[in-house]
Amino acid sequence: MSIVRADVPTTAKLCDDTIQALTERYPSCSTELLTFTAYGRPIRSLILGTGARKVLFTAAHHANEWITAPVLLKFVEDLAQAAEDGEGLGGVDAKTLLEQVTVYTVPMVDPDGVALVTGELTPEDPGYAAAREIAQSFPAILFPTGWKANLAGTDLNLNYPAGWLQAREIKFMQGFDRPAPRDYVGRAPLDQPETRALASYTEYVDPALVLAFHSQGQVIYWQFDDIFVPGAEELGQRLAQASGYALEDTPYNSAFAGYKDWFIQNFRRPGYTVEVGIGENPLPLSQFDAIYRENLPLLLIAAQG
Ligand SMILES: [Zn+2]
Repeated sequence: MSIVRADVPTTAKLCDDTIQALTERYPSCSTELLTFTAYGRPIRSLILGTGARKVLFTAAHHANEWITAPVLLKFVEDLAQAAEDGEGLGGVDAKTLLEQVTVYTVPMVDPDGVALVTGELTPEDPGYAAAREIAQSFPAILFPTGWKANLAGTDLNLNYPAGWLQAREIKFMQGFDRPAPRDYVGRAPLDQPETRALASYTEYVDPALVLAFHSQGQVIYWQFDDIFVPGAEELGQRLAQASGYALEDTPYNSAFAGYKDWFIQNFRRPGYTVEVGIGENPLPLSQFDAIYRENLPLLLIAAQG
């Protein structure tokens, strides 16, 4: 019986409990605490493998894209179980893979925002009240289902120092010039605990590759600015072929200040944003099985390089 649940929404608490349970069940799994959010929620990694090649996969940078979190949790569980049983996963020998690769995951970068969107917060909760007040001046955005930001109203995937001023100009012109349910870049790059912690953690892990899981669109973005990363396009094409997703150029209005942008700029190594599923966020759990099926081969290829 699996630990990871895909039959209920992955709340911040469920994600954290699942990480703890996986590390207790599988001796090969470990976890590290990155930081606590403004509302005291932990952001943890979940780590598997002992190999020299290190990769870092992140999910749920955006609150109403929480369906991406169980994709990573399930990937770690399936890989740990297959290695324990001496079996293959998606045609790959799990034990061998984990001798060659160390897989670092951060399954939920925005637990505060996820707590709001998944209904974990009651209207009496201080975080809920703060978010509702921010949302009131953006009546066109559904509340709380349209919420992407953290509870300070900063869009975490627009808070990285990689063309941040361009992102600021674009988003301010679109009316997101103050804390908002989405698209507010913050007062300065890395001014949020979540992004600061993930940037530090990325520097500490020093991975060969990063994936950042978002929803939705069934597309993969691989570029930042005009930086040439050797092999990145070819690997992107393999990821696209494995998942059935399209490898695309990032639209100009969302081409700056994201996590993968910052990684490509600072590390000059392959970094990808993977937009899973199709429809309106938050995607229904009925899509989970298809999303996992599409992304398992992609995850295995990204791990192996
Ligand atoms: Zn997103």
